[in-house]
Amino acid sequence: MTMTRRFEKPFTQQEAISESAIARVGEILRTGRLHRYNTVQGAVSEATLLEQEYAKWQGAKYCLATTSGGQALQIALRAAGVGPGAKVLANAYTLAPVPGAIFAVGGQPVLVEIDENWHTDLDDLRAKAAASGAEYFLISHMRGHIADMDAIMSICKEFGIILIEDCAHTMGAKWKGTRSGNFGDIACFSTQTYKHLNSGEGGLLTTDNPEFAARAVVGSGSYMLYGSHGAIPREEVFQKVRLESPNCSARLDNLRAAILRAQLPGLEENVRRWNVRYSILESGFNSAPGLKTVERQQYEEFVGSSIQFQAPGIGTENIPDFLARCAARGVEIKWFGGKEPTAFTSRYDSWHYLGEMDPLPNTIRTLSTTCDMRVPLTFSEQDCREITEIVADEAAKCCQT
Ligand SMILES: *Cc1c(COP(=O)(O)O)cnc(C)c1O
Repeated sequence: MTMTRRFEKPFTQQEAISESAIARVGEILRTGRLHRYNTVQGAVSEATLLEQEYAKWQGAKYCLATTSGGQALQIALRAAGVGPGAKVLANAYTLAPVPGAIFAVGGQPVLVEIDENWHTDLDDLRAKAAASGAEYFLISHMRGHIADMDAIMSICKEFGIILIEDCAHTMGAKWKGTRSGNFGDIACFSTQTYKHLNSGEGGLLTTDNPEFAARAVVGSGSYMLYGSHGAIPREEVFQKVRLESPNCSARLDNLRAAILRAQLPGLEENVRRWNVRYSILESGFNSAPGLKTVERQQYEEFVGSSIQFQAPGIGTENIPDFLARCAARGVEIKWFGGKEPTAFTSRYDSWHYLGEMDPLPNTIRTLSTTCDMRVPLTFSEQDCREITEIVADEAAKCCQT
Protein backbone atom coordinates (compact mmCIF):
# COMPACT_ATOMS: atom_id res chain seq x y z
CA MET A 1 0.00 0.00 0.00
CA THR A 2 2.64 2.51 1.08
CA MET A 3 4.71 1.60 -1.97
CA THR A 4 2.32 3.39 -4.32
CA ARG A 5 1.55 6.36 -2.08
CA ARG A 6 1.39 9.61 -4.00
CA PHE A 7 2.59 12.99 -2.80
CA GLU A 8 -0.16 15.51 -3.44
CA LYS A 9 1.24 18.96 -2.77
CA PRO A 10 2.40 21.18 -5.63
CA PHE A 11 6.11 22.01 -5.82
CA THR A 12 5.36 25.52 -7.05
CA GLN A 13 3.13 26.64 -4.18
CA GLN A 14 4.65 29.47 -2.14
CA GLU A 15 3.27 30.75 1.12
CA ALA A 16 0.47 33.30 1.12
CA ILE A 17 1.23 37.00 1.27
CA SER A 18 0.58 38.19 4.83
CA GLU A 19 -2.58 40.04 5.77
CA SER A 20 -0.51 43.06 6.83
CA ALA A 21 1.09 43.23 3.37
CA ILE A 22 -2.32 42.88 1.73
CA ALA A 23 -3.66 45.71 3.92
CA ARG A 24 -0.73 47.96 3.01
CA VAL A 25 -1.16 47.21 -0.70
CA GLY A 26 -4.86 48.10 -0.34
CA GLU A 27 -3.94 51.44 1.23
CA ILE A 28 -1.55 52.25 -1.60
CA LEU A 29 -4.11 51.26 -4.22
CA ARG A 30 -6.58 53.67 -2.65
CA THR A 31 -4.11 56.54 -2.98
CA GLY A 32 -3.55 55.79 -6.67
CA ARG A 33 0.15 56.61 -6.17
CA LEU A 34 1.69 53.40 -7.41
CA HIS A 35 4.72 54.90 -9.12
CA ARG A 36 7.76 55.35 -6.90
CA TYR A 37 8.18 59.02 -7.80
CA ASN A 38 4.52 59.83 -7.32
CA THR A 39 4.69 61.00 -3.69
CA VAL A 40 2.99 63.83 -1.88
CA GLN A 41 5.18 66.56 -0.41
CA GLY A 42 7.41 65.21 2.33
CA ALA A 43 6.40 61.56 1.89
CA VAL A 44 8.90 58.75 1.27
CA SER A 45 7.84 56.10 -1.24
CA GLU A 46 7.58 52.40 -0.42
CA ALA A 47 10.26 51.69 -3.02
CA THR A 48 12.68 54.04 -1.29
CA LEU A 49 11.90 52.58 2.13
CA LEU A 50 12.48 49.09 0.76
CA GLU A 51 15.88 50.12 -0.62
CA GLN A 52 16.90 51.60 2.72
CA GLU A 53 15.76 48.55 4.62
CA TYR A 54 17.33 46.08 2.21
CA ALA A 55 20.65 47.96 2.17
CA LYS A 56 20.69 47.78 5.96
CA TRP A 57 19.77 44.11 6.04
CA GLN A 58 22.34 43.21 3.40
CA GLY A 59 25.03 45.41 4.94
CA ALA A 60 25.57 47.39 1.74
CA LYS A 61 25.86 51.14 1.33
CA TYR A 62 23.59 51.52 -1.67
CA CYS A 63 20.53 49.71 -2.98
CA LEU A 64 18.26 49.93 -6.00
CA ALA A 65 14.94 48.12 -6.51
CA THR A 66 14.18 46.94 -10.04
CA THR A 67 11.42 45.23 -12.00
CA SER A 68 13.20 41.86 -12.10
CA GLY A 69 16.38 40.06 -11.20
CA GLY A 70 17.31 39.94 -14.87
CA GLN A 71 16.93 43.71 -15.13
CA ALA A 72 19.09 44.13 -12.03
CA LEU A 73 21.77 42.10 -13.83
CA GLN A 74 21.58 44.23 -16.98
CA ILE A 75 21.68 47.44 -14.98
CA ALA A 76 24.62 46.15 -12.94
CA LEU A 77 26.56 45.17 -16.05
CA ARG A 78 25.99 48.58 -17.67
CA ALA A 79 26.78 50.41 -14.44
CA ALA A 80 30.05 48.51 -14.14
CA GLY A 81 30.98 49.54 -17.68
CA VAL A 82 30.08 46.53 -19.81
CA GLY A 83 29.28 47.66 -23.33
CA PRO A 84 29.34 46.27 -26.86
CA GLY A 85 32.04 43.65 -27.30
CA ALA A 86 33.11 43.51 -23.65
CA LYS A 87 33.95 40.01 -22.52
CA VAL A 88 32.19 38.77 -19.42
CA LEU A 89 33.21 35.58 -17.65
CA ALA A 90 30.24 33.58 -16.37
CA ASN A 91 29.96 30.11 -14.85
CA ALA A 92 28.11 27.92 -17.35
CA TYR A 93 25.71 26.41 -14.81
CA THR A 94 23.16 29.16 -14.38
CA LEU A 95 19.70 30.24 -15.45
CA ALA A 96 18.81 31.79 -18.78
CA PRO A 97 18.49 35.43 -17.52
CA VAL A 98 22.27 35.49 -16.94
CA PRO A 99 23.50 34.94 -20.52
CA GLY A 100 20.45 36.94 -21.58
CA ALA A 101 21.56 39.95 -19.53
CA ILE A 102 25.13 39.81 -20.87
CA PHE A 103 23.79 39.54 -24.42
CA ALA A 104 21.31 42.39 -23.90
CA VAL A 105 24.05 44.86 -22.96
CA GLY A 106 26.17 43.78 -25.93
CA GLY A 107 28.65 41.78 -23.88
CA GLN A 108 30.24 38.51 -24.94
CA PRO A 109 29.92 35.72 -22.42
CA VAL A 110 33.02 33.63 -21.78
CA LEU A 111 31.59 30.54 -20.15
CA VAL A 112 33.54 28.87 -17.37
CA GLU A 113 33.34 25.22 -16.37
CA ILE A 114 31.83 24.06 -13.10
CA ASP A 115 33.22 21.31 -10.92
CA GLU A 116 31.38 18.25 -9.60
CA ASN A 117 30.08 20.29 -6.65
CA TRP A 118 28.36 22.82 -8.94
CA HIS A 119 30.93 25.52 -8.12
CA THR A 120 32.86 27.60 -10.62
CA ASP A 121 35.95 25.59 -11.57
CA LEU A 122 38.81 27.70 -10.25
CA ASP A 123 41.43 26.42 -12.68
CA ASP A 124 39.20 27.04 -15.67
CA LEU A 125 38.31 30.50 -14.34
CA ARG A 126 41.97 31.40 -14.06
CA ALA A 127 42.77 29.98 -17.50
CA LYS A 128 39.85 31.77 -19.18
CA ALA A 129 40.55 35.03 -17.35
CA ALA A 130 44.12 34.91 -18.66
CA ALA A 131 43.22 33.83 -22.20
CA SER A 132 40.21 36.14 -22.72
CA GLY A 133 41.45 39.28 -20.99
CA ALA A 134 37.88 39.71 -19.68
CA GLU A 135 37.50 42.53 -17.19
CA TYR A 136 34.24 41.24 -15.72
CA PHE A 137 33.03 38.12 -14.02
CA LEU A 138 29.31 37.57 -13.47
CA ILE A 139 29.21 34.73 -10.98
CA SER A 140 25.95 32.89 -10.31
CA HIS A 141 25.82 31.24 -6.94
CA MET A 142 23.69 28.74 -8.73
CA ARG A 143 21.16 26.86 -6.61
CA GLY A 144 22.83 28.37 -3.57
CA HIS A 145 26.20 26.66 -3.97
CA ILE A 146 28.89 29.16 -3.00
CA ALA A 147 32.40 28.54 -4.32
CA ASP A 148 35.56 29.27 -2.33
CA MET A 149 35.17 33.05 -2.29
CA ASP A 150 38.73 33.65 -1.05
CA ALA A 151 40.03 31.93 -4.17
CA ILE A 152 37.51 33.70 -6.45
CA MET A 153 38.43 37.10 -5.01
CA SER A 154 42.12 36.44 -5.36
CA ILE A 155 41.71 35.51 -9.05
CA CYS A 156 39.62 38.67 -9.63
CA LYS A 157 42.28 40.75 -7.92
CA GLU A 158 45.11 39.15 -9.86
CA PHE A 159 43.46 39.91 -13.21
CA GLY A 160 41.83 43.23 -12.24
CA ILE A 161 38.37 41.75 -12.77
CA ILE A 162 35.18 43.48 -11.64
CA LEU A 163 32.98 40.90 -9.92
CA ILE A 164 29.20 40.98 -10.17
CA GLU A 165 27.39 38.45 -7.99
CA ASP A 166 24.11 36.92 -9.08
CA CYS A 167 22.57 36.12 -5.70
CA ALA A 168 19.18 34.97 -7.00
CA HIS A 169 19.63 31.78 -4.93
CA THR A 170 21.79 33.12 -2.10
CA MET A 171 19.76 35.95 -0.64
CA GLY A 172 20.38 35.43 3.07
CA ALA A 173 23.30 33.02 2.60
CA LYS A 174 26.82 33.60 3.92
CA TRP A 175 30.32 32.40 3.25
CA LYS A 176 32.81 32.63 6.14
CA GLY A 177 30.31 34.85 7.92
CA THR A 178 30.03 37.40 5.08
CA ARG A 179 26.73 37.73 3.31
CA SER A 180 26.67 36.51 -0.26
CA GLY A 181 26.59 39.65 -2.38
CA ASN A 182 29.12 41.51 -0.24
CA PHE A 183 32.17 39.97 -1.93
CA GLY A 184 31.96 41.50 -5.37
CA ASP A 185 31.55 45.03 -6.69
CA ILE A 186 27.81 44.73 -7.29
CA ALA A 187 25.23 42.13 -6.26
CA CYS A 188 21.89 41.33 -7.86
CA PHE A 189 18.91 39.60 -6.29
CA SER A 190 15.57 38.43 -7.63
CA THR A 191 12.24 38.70 -5.83
CA GLN A 192 10.39 36.72 -8.46
CA THR A 193 7.90 34.27 -6.94
CA TYR A 194 10.26 31.29 -6.69
CA LYS A 195 13.08 33.09 -4.89
CA HIS A 196 13.58 33.97 -1.20
CA LEU A 197 11.28 36.99 -1.21
CA ASN A 198 8.16 36.96 -3.37
CA SER A 199 6.71 39.99 -5.10
CA GLY A 200 5.72 38.15 -8.27
CA GLU A 201 8.40 40.00 -10.21
CA GLY A 202 11.15 42.21 -8.85
CA GLY A 203 14.84 42.60 -8.22
CA LEU A 204 17.33 44.31 -5.96
CA LEU A 205 20.84 45.55 -6.63
CA THR A 206 23.35 46.43 -3.93
CA THR A 207 26.83 47.93 -4.07
CA ASP A 208 29.31 49.92 -2.00
CA ASN A 209 30.69 51.63 -5.10
CA PRO A 210 29.22 55.17 -5.33
CA GLU A 211 29.69 55.56 -9.06
CA PHE A 212 28.20 52.15 -9.88
CA ALA A 213 25.28 52.98 -7.59
CA ALA A 214 24.60 56.33 -9.25
CA ARG A 215 24.81 54.83 -12.75
CA ALA A 216 22.51 52.00 -11.72
CA VAL A 217 19.90 54.37 -10.29
CA VAL A 218 19.91 56.62 -13.36
CA GLY A 219 20.05 53.54 -15.61
CA SER A 220 16.98 52.06 -13.91
CA GLY A 221 14.98 55.00 -15.21
CA SER A 222 15.08 57.58 -12.43
CA TYR A 223 14.77 60.52 -14.85
CA MET A 224 16.14 63.41 -12.78
CA LEU A 225 14.19 62.33 -9.72
CA TYR A 226 16.95 60.20 -8.23
CA GLY A 227 17.19 62.62 -5.28
CA SER A 228 14.12 60.99 -3.72
CA HIS A 229 15.98 57.66 -3.34
CA GLY A 230 17.25 56.90 0.13
CA ALA A 231 20.15 54.48 -0.29
CA ILE A 232 22.26 56.40 -2.82
CA PRO A 233 25.57 58.29 -2.95
CA ARG A 234 25.98 62.07 -2.75
CA GLU A 235 24.75 64.47 -5.42
CA GLU A 236 28.29 65.09 -6.76
CA VAL A 237 28.46 61.50 -7.91
CA PHE A 238 25.19 61.88 -9.82
CA GLN A 239 26.44 65.09 -11.40
CA LYS A 240 29.26 63.05 -12.95
CA VAL A 241 27.11 60.24 -14.36
CA ARG A 242 23.54 61.50 -14.80
CA LEU A 243 23.90 62.49 -18.45
CA GLU A 244 26.07 59.48 -19.29
CA SER A 245 23.69 56.70 -18.23
CA PRO A 246 20.93 55.52 -20.58
CA ASN A 247 17.45 55.32 -19.05
CA CYS A 248 16.46 51.66 -19.35
CA SER A 249 13.15 51.93 -17.48
CA ALA A 250 13.10 49.10 -14.95
CA ARG A 251 11.82 50.73 -11.78
CA LEU A 252 10.03 48.80 -9.05
CA ASP A 253 6.57 50.08 -8.17
CA ASN A 254 5.21 50.81 -4.69
CA LEU A 255 2.88 47.81 -4.56
CA ARG A 256 5.64 45.27 -4.99
CA ALA A 257 7.89 47.26 -2.68
CA ALA A 258 5.22 47.12 0.03
CA ILE A 259 4.89 43.34 -0.37
CA LEU A 260 8.66 42.96 -0.03
CA ARG A 261 8.95 45.27 2.97
CA ALA A 262 6.43 43.12 4.78
CA GLN A 263 8.44 39.96 4.04
CA LEU A 264 11.95 41.15 4.81
CA PRO A 265 11.70 40.93 8.62
CA GLY A 266 10.78 37.23 8.27
CA LEU A 267 13.58 36.28 5.90
CA GLU A 268 16.03 35.11 8.55
CA GLU A 269 13.42 32.83 10.09
CA ASN A 270 12.52 31.49 6.64
CA VAL A 271 16.18 30.66 6.01
CA ARG A 272 16.06 28.53 9.15
CA ARG A 273 12.82 26.88 8.02
CA TRP A 274 14.26 26.12 4.58
CA ASN A 275 17.33 24.54 6.14
CA VAL A 276 15.31 22.28 8.44
CA ARG A 277 13.54 20.95 5.34
CA TYR A 278 16.79 20.70 3.39
CA SER A 279 18.47 18.61 6.05
CA ILE A 280 15.59 16.10 6.14
CA LEU A 281 15.74 15.78 2.34
CA GLU A 282 19.53 15.63 2.36
CA SER A 283 19.76 12.74 4.77
CA GLY A 284 16.87 10.96 3.06
CA PHE A 285 18.45 11.24 -0.40
CA ASN A 286 21.85 10.20 0.88
CA SER A 287 20.48 7.01 2.30
CA ALA A 288 18.54 6.25 -0.90
CA PRO A 289 20.15 3.69 -3.20
CA GLY A 290 22.25 5.20 -5.99
CA LEU A 291 21.81 8.85 -4.97
CA LYS A 292 24.10 11.33 -3.30
CA THR A 293 23.97 14.98 -2.39
CA VAL A 294 27.04 17.14 -2.19
CA GLU A 295 28.82 17.72 1.08
CA ARG A 296 28.41 21.43 1.73
CA GLN A 297 31.62 23.34 2.31
CA GLN A 298 32.74 24.17 5.82
CA TYR A 299 32.31 27.93 5.40
CA GLU A 300 29.03 27.87 3.57
CA GLU A 301 25.86 29.01 5.35
CA PHE A 302 23.46 28.27 2.54
CA VAL A 303 19.71 28.65 2.12
CA GLY A 304 18.15 25.28 1.34
CA SER A 305 15.37 26.57 -0.91
CA SER A 306 16.24 23.85 -3.40
CA ILE A 307 18.23 20.64 -3.24
CA GLN A 308 20.47 19.02 -5.82
CA PHE A 309 21.67 15.49 -5.95
CA GLN A 310 23.62 13.25 -8.26
CA ALA A 311 22.34 9.86 -9.32
CA PRO A 312 25.56 7.93 -9.99
CA GLY A 313 23.90 4.58 -9.29
CA ILE A 314 21.14 5.23 -11.77
CA GLY A 315 23.15 6.39 -14.73
CA THR A 316 22.39 9.13 -17.21
CA GLU A 317 20.36 7.01 -19.60
CA ASN A 318 17.95 5.90 -16.86
CA ILE A 319 17.45 9.27 -15.26
CA PRO A 320 14.46 10.23 -17.43
CA ASP A 321 12.74 7.00 -16.39
CA PHE A 322 13.60 7.57 -12.71
CA LEU A 323 12.22 11.13 -12.83
CA ALA A 324 9.08 10.01 -14.67
CA ARG A 325 8.46 7.44 -11.93
CA CYS A 326 8.90 10.08 -9.23
CA ALA A 327 6.62 12.46 -11.17
CA ALA A 328 3.95 9.75 -11.44
CA ARG A 329 3.96 9.71 -7.65
CA GLY A 330 3.73 13.48 -7.39
CA VAL A 331 7.40 14.27 -6.79
CA GLU A 332 8.66 16.87 -9.21
CA ILE A 333 12.41 16.66 -9.88
CA LYS A 334 14.18 18.51 -12.64
CA TRP A 335 17.15 17.34 -14.64
CA PHE A 336 19.88 19.59 -15.96
CA GLY A 337 21.16 16.84 -18.22
CA GLY A 338 18.41 17.04 -20.81
CA LYS A 339 19.38 18.14 -24.31
CA GLU A 340 16.18 20.12 -24.68
CA PRO A 341 15.47 23.02 -22.30
CA THR A 342 12.34 22.46 -20.20
CA ALA A 343 10.49 25.05 -18.08
CA PHE A 344 13.09 27.04 -16.08
CA THR A 345 15.86 24.56 -16.78
CA SER A 346 18.30 24.91 -19.65
CA ARG A 347 21.89 24.02 -20.38
CA TYR A 348 24.44 26.40 -21.89
CA ASP A 349 24.32 24.63 -25.25
CA SER A 350 20.69 25.76 -25.65
CA TRP A 351 21.68 29.41 -25.77
CA HIS A 352 22.18 29.41 -29.54
CA TYR A 353 22.07 33.20 -29.84
CA LEU A 354 25.51 33.28 -28.20
CA GLY A 355 26.97 31.65 -31.29
CA GLU A 356 29.67 29.00 -31.43
CA MET A 357 31.01 28.15 -27.97
CA ASP A 358 33.89 26.06 -26.75
CA PRO A 359 32.63 22.78 -25.36
CA LEU A 360 32.57 22.46 -21.59
CA PRO A 361 32.91 18.71 -21.02
CA ASN A 362 33.15 18.88 -17.22
CA THR A 363 30.00 20.97 -16.97
CA ILE A 364 28.13 18.61 -19.27
CA ARG A 365 29.35 15.60 -17.29
CA THR A 366 28.29 17.09 -13.94
CA LEU A 367 24.92 18.24 -15.25
CA SER A 368 24.23 14.93 -16.96
CA THR A 369 23.49 13.38 -13.57
CA THR A 370 22.31 16.47 -11.69
CA CYS A 371 18.80 16.30 -10.30
CA ASP A 372 17.21 19.36 -8.83
CA MET A 373 14.22 19.81 -6.56
CA ARG A 374 12.45 22.86 -5.27
CA VAL A 375 11.75 23.09 -1.55
CA PRO A 376 8.77 25.38 -1.03
CA LEU A 377 8.02 26.45 2.53
CA THR A 378 4.48 25.14 2.13
CA PHE A 379 5.99 21.66 2.60
CA SER A 380 6.00 20.46 6.20
CA GLU A 381 8.82 18.44 7.68
CA GLN A 382 6.59 15.38 7.36
CA ASP A 383 6.07 16.17 3.67
CA CYS A 384 9.85 16.17 3.22
CA ARG A 385 10.10 12.75 4.86
CA GLU A 386 7.37 11.42 2.55
CA ILE A 387 9.19 12.79 -0.48
CA THR A 388 12.43 11.06 0.48
CA GLU A 389 10.57 7.77 0.93
CA ILE A 390 9.03 7.99 -2.52
CA VAL A 391 12.33 9.01 -4.12
CA ALA A 392 14.25 6.23 -2.35
CA ASP A 393 11.61 3.72 -3.39
CA GLU A 394 11.81 4.67 -7.05
CA ALA A 395 15.61 4.99 -6.97
CA ALA A 396 15.81 1.39 -5.77
CA LYS A 397 13.83 0.26 -8.82
CA CYS A 398 16.08 2.19 -11.20
CA CYS A 399 19.44 1.29 -9.71
CA GLN A 400 21.78 -0.60 -12.01
CA THR A 401 23.17 -3.03 -9.51
C1 LIG B 1 15.72 33.84 -11.11
C2 LIG B 1 17.11 34.04 -11.49
C3 LIG B 1 17.58 35.26 -12.01
C4 LIG B 1 16.71 36.46 -12.24
O1 LIG B 1 15.46 36.14 -12.57
P1 LIG B 1 14.21 37.08 -12.83
O2 LIG B 1 13.20 36.10 -13.22
O3 LIG B 1 14.60 38.02 -13.91
O4 LIG B 1 13.91 37.82 -11.56
C5 LIG B 1 18.91 35.36 -12.28
N1 LIG B 1 19.75 34.34 -12.07
C6 LIG B 1 19.35 33.17 -11.59
C7 LIG B 1 20.37 32.10 -11.36
C8 LIG B 1 18.01 32.97 -11.30
O5 LIG B 1 17.60 31.79 -10.83
